[in-house]
Amino acid sequence: MNVLVIGSGGREHALCWKLASSPLLSRLYCAPGNGGIAKIAECVPLKPLDFDAIVAFCREKDIGFVMIGPEDPLVNGLVDRLDREGIKSFGPSAAAARLEGSKGFTKDLCAEFNIPTAAYGRFSNAADAKAFVKANGAPIVVKADGLAAGKGVTVAETVEQADAAIDEIFSGRFGAAGAEVVVEEFLDGEEASFFAFCDGKTVMALATAQDHKRVFDGDKGPNTGGMGAYSPAPVLTPDLIARVMREIIEPTAAAMQRRGTPFKGVFFAGLMITKKGPQLIEYNTRFGDPETQVLMTRLKSDLLPALIATHDGTLDKIALEWKDEVALTVVMAANGYPGDYVKDTEIKGLDKAGAVANVQVFHAGTRAEGTRILATGGRVLNVTATGKTVSEAQATAYRAVDLIDWPQGFCRRDIGWRAIERERGAD
Ligand code: AMP
Repeated sequence: MNVLVIGSGGREHALCWKLASSPLLSRLYCAPGNGGIAKIAECVPLKPLDFDAIVAFCREKDIGFVMIGPEDPLVNGLVDRLDREGIKSFGPSAAAARLEGSKGFTKDLCAEFNIPTAAYGRFSNAADAKAFVKANGAPIVVKADGLAAGKGVTVAETVEQADAAIDEIFSGRFGAAGAEVVVEEFLDGEEASFFAFCDGKTVMALATAQDHKRVFDGDKGPNTGGMGAYSPAPVLTPDLIARVMREIIEPTAAAMQRRGTPFKGVFFAGLMITKKGPQLIEYNTRFGDPETQVLMTRLKSDLLPALIATHDGTLDKIALEWKDEVALTVVMAANGYPGDYVKDTEIKGLDKAGAVANVQVFHAGTRAEGTRILATGGRVLNVTATGKTVSEAQATAYRAVDLIDWPQGFCRRDIGWRAIERERGAD
């Protein structure tokens, strides 16, 4: 089977790396891909939102399956279009991708089906939203309803901060994504991510992960797309995983099916583990980045049949095996990220780093120029290692990081600290 992966980040590199080992695979393409992906797949310059061009390419190259990485094409209906064309793909329809595309939609669904989540209000004008903030007090959380590239959420410590966030959203800064605001209760606890496949009716737990959103060591500084991650998340014990499936994932799948918009693809649930138990912070309706990098390095089974099963509604015939080991990924970013950063700087030492045992270096924002690899993005590399413990995986990952010669880049040196503290506590 010929497979096309849509996207260009570390997530897509990890997916391509895993798919490349599938015995079912004939040719692997990635659109648009990056400098690392180009070593294992044929990169094609298609834009993820140019559906006509994607369909034409699938016809020309006899693509049997399309794996969609990012959320934009999903929310805009790429899966619906491919279904109409008779081309199988991975991910939800536009109607089901509303779980990610509209926070208000998800909050209403949780309220209707008793899925544990923060108490909330939905508002289409600033005065009502501010009245809600005043009535509830701080800390409180303000969110733009739609997709805002991770920038639409403010955890406000004061009423003034919440009011400013409301004004900012209604100022039009986020375009249509800011037409509505969700204001919600602040949840206290430890965050973790949970992944589960769904084929419309059957759900299958995959694995857990935790990431580091802040740019500097000690979880300080501004938020980023993620500076590192590890899997599994020690906070999610088997009992808690069973509760997440029973109280959050299964009711969501059933609700979507009942509403006539069955969910296919992967639920990426952002959870807060509170004293009352797991609560849903948000859904993403695609794989996470950089969480996919650690998930794929832990997955023993062939990924492709499972992806196809989510499309075909045959997930009940699939069983996936995972390594018991921990996987940990360190993001290397361009100096200045998440603010302005320089592009097109050369990265050396990648082969040496990739040759370290139990290490995979995924490219997130690079391009190849002849034999040289140049940094093109803010988040540029994901140095990913496995180990028996988080401490071991971390040590291996940093050994590989230290072989990379890229003076214009940086990384955090403490990825996994929370889990390592737990490990030390258990000794
Ligand atoms: P989201 O984009 O909804 O995942 O929110 C981004 C981040 O804001 C989350 O990863 C949390 O750290 C934080 N956050 C969102 N909602 C809440 C909440 N209700 N209580 C506490 N923190 C939250």
